[in-house]
Amino acid sequence: MPQKVVILGGGVAGLSAAHELLERGFVVEIFEKLKIPGGKARSIPVREGLGNHGSKNGCVAALEGREAALPKGNYQQFVPGEHGFRFFPNFYRHITDTLSRIPSGSGTVFDSLVETTQVLVARYDKAGIELPSRFPANAYELATTLKTFLWSISPHNEIPYAEIEHFSGCVWRIITSCEDRRFDEYEKMDWWDFVGAESRSAAYQKLLAIGITRSLVAAKARSASVKTIGDIFVQLLFGILTPGVASDRLLNGPTNQVWILPWLAYLKTMGLVYHLDSEVMEIQVGGGRITGATVQTAGKTRHASADWFIGALPVERMAPLVTPAMKAIDPSLANLGPLSNSVEWMNGIQFYLLHDAPIIHGHIIFIDSPWALTAVSQRQFWNTIDFADWGDGKTRGVLSVDISQWDTPGFNGKAAVECTRQEIADETWLQLKRSLNVGDAEVLRDEDLHFWFLDPDIGDDPSDPSRRSDGEPLLVNNKNTWRLRPEAATAIPNFFLASDYVRTFTDLATMEGANEAARRAVNAILERSGSDRPQCQLWNLHEPEALAPFRAYDRARYQSGLPWDDRFAKAAEAALAIGQATTGVTAGGAGPLAAVTPFVEALLAASAPLSHPIAAQALSMIGLPAGVLRDPIDTVTDFGAPKPLMDAVSKAAVTAEPWLAGASSPDMATVLNTTSADATRAQSRIRITQKA
Ligand SMILES: Cc1cc2nc3c(=O)[nH]c(=O)nc-3n(C[C@H](O)[C@H](O)[C@H](O)COP(=O)(O)OP(=O)(O)OC[C@H]3O[C@@H](n4cnc5c(N)ncnc54)[C@H](O)[C@@H]3O)c2cc1C
Repeated sequence: MPQKVVILGGGVAGLSAAHELLERGFVVEIFEKLKIPGGKARSIPVREGLGNHGSKNGCVAALEGREAALPKGNYQQFVPGEHGFRFFPNFYRHITDTLSRIPSGSGTVFDSLVETTQVLVARYDKAGIELPSRFPANAYELATTLKTFLWSISPHNEIPYAEIEHFSGCVWRIITSCEDRRFDEYEKMDWWDFVGAESRSAAYQKLLAIGITRSLVAAKARSASVKTIGDIFVQLLFGILTPGVASDRLLNGPTNQVWILPWLAYLKTMGLVYHLDSEVMEIQVGGGRITGATVQTAGKTRHASADWFIGALPVERMAPLVTPAMKAIDPSLANLGPLSNSVEWMNGIQFYLLHDAPIIHGHIIFIDSPWALTAVSQRQFWNTIDFADWGDGKTRGVLSVDISQWDTPGFNGKAAVECTRQEIADETWLQLKRSLNVGDAEVLRDEDLHFWFLDPDIGDDPSDPSRRSDGEPLLVNNKNTWRLRPEAATAIPNFFLASDYVRTFTDLATMEGANEAARRAVNAILERSGSDRPQCQLWNLHEPEALAPFRAYDRARYQSGLPWDDRFAKAAEAALAIGQATTGVTAGGAGPLAAVTPFVEALLAASAPLSHPIAAQALSMIGLPAGVLRDPIDTVTDFGAPKPLMDAVSKAAVTAEPWLAGASSPDMATVLNTTSADATRAQSRIRITQKA
């Protein structure tokens, strides 16, 4: 007889666990509090025209959206809203594997991902910084990248060379540090201190300290763990540097339409029972096991029983459901209480436009906005919907914005948490315009703003009606919180945790982390039930192999109680300082950089390009074949990278060994022998409980 699993919570983690379990022959029932499936990844139907969506004309607060059941049949009377826009960086492995197993049309939901090509760092009153979100795929992109690079280190950007070098040294430190050091040292440090932001320029603080953390969910530079931010930053960085793939992807339609609903429908064909509007009120324990859960569905109480239970609720909802009886069996569950303090607000607001404003083909980070806005102009990616069919048929564009900083005053002198819903929309619109309408450009026009929709999770604080509350905050990886985070398998024999706060390789509250946690919970059920069905696949974060010798070297040092070896970074910094002193160039725009600029300009000139003599000359001077301009990817492949590149770096590391290895340092041969041990340690690391 098949065994039954009850899953509490129907977000990405709950659905992912159900998917894996159903494929392995389990009977699965999910209880979800809301009337819309998908948890934080859900779309929210906006009833445009009914006056209840929080439009720019005032009207009633949009709580209705939260309560709205999925429209049956023709849901085109609704305009698509999102709890927050979704992005799928290319280092994701788990969630994308699941997407590729959900049928959709003649393919799978994975086919619904659209690659982005750019990122815009928008600034107040200055032109934004356009960055590529992928390795240059042609000469034009290569030239643009070079130009952006030159520009970003120029005086316009106000970050002195010395600070950029310092930051590069910090990145070098992360990518050449071993995993043990990251867990034991960097996990206890915050990003602000690690990158030395306090003593550096305001531009450095804004772009490289705060800017990097704010683009990663709702993390804050002054409290975010260096281990998490560093790991993910490196993933994103190498994602961009990987030839042939985009570093970032978005869905080609509203999340529920192109993903969550087809997923639910597919899982139902395998027997899933998914209850909406069903809130878990209590979990019962008896005989050292979970015996059931009390669930309230539309005001009626019922008892849910099963062989196995998975808690797929967010940490701040799971913590109060953990009873003393559960803590008596697994004392580490008491950590969920303190962990649930590590949450921040991150909520979506959509602006529906009468004329589309594509702005950029990817993400926009509003680096100067006090409310830490990020956005995507959706229409260019939502190629599956005809906007004329939605709502009153007038909407032509959707600017989907996330607000991640709720306690810093805006232009109106108020923090978002103190603003009414209308004030939140007005102030957000103002911060967007200030960042995008630069110079003569009028990217956003008031007359194009049809209406807006703010996440209905933003309500009134019951204890202080002058302030707002957030129904669904998001876990952020503050320093020193890994020790509080649970593993998927608890010490209660039939109880498991699967949500974005569980210990995973991903180590970031994302759909990827939620999916990986679900796989770990399912694997634990398979193990404890003695099932012979295959385990769910897990992937560790991919680290560049070329740097493995450095990480191994650091591991050997770490095991000998030595700090990370900063001599290489210091030597590089010294060499650059000598270069700058000799040329007199301490910031961009002159000297050697000025010499390069004409080549870049030549490449960018429309008539120029590949055959331009200056460009060809430039290439031959630096020893590159002309093919690099036609197609850098082919050229990289021609070179046979990454192997030769790896070989070169490894050779360099070995050559440098006598210099690197001080009297107290381990020798490189020992180091290289320890490399392969790293992979196995990574897996066991997740299983180490309660490391102080
Ligand atoms: C604005 C925003 C934008 C984001 N953007 C991205 C992105 O671009 N890419 C990315 O990878 N991640 C993103 N994330 C993070 C990602 O959405 C979450 O980490 C992930 O969806 C969490 O999934 P989960 O299943 O663990 O939790 P949840 O999505 O929170 O699901 C838990 C479910 O449990 C339900 N529930 C709560 N209490 C009860 C109860 N008592 N009884 C029954 N059910 C209950 C909830 O209603 C919810 O449906 C974003 C998050 C936010 C807030």
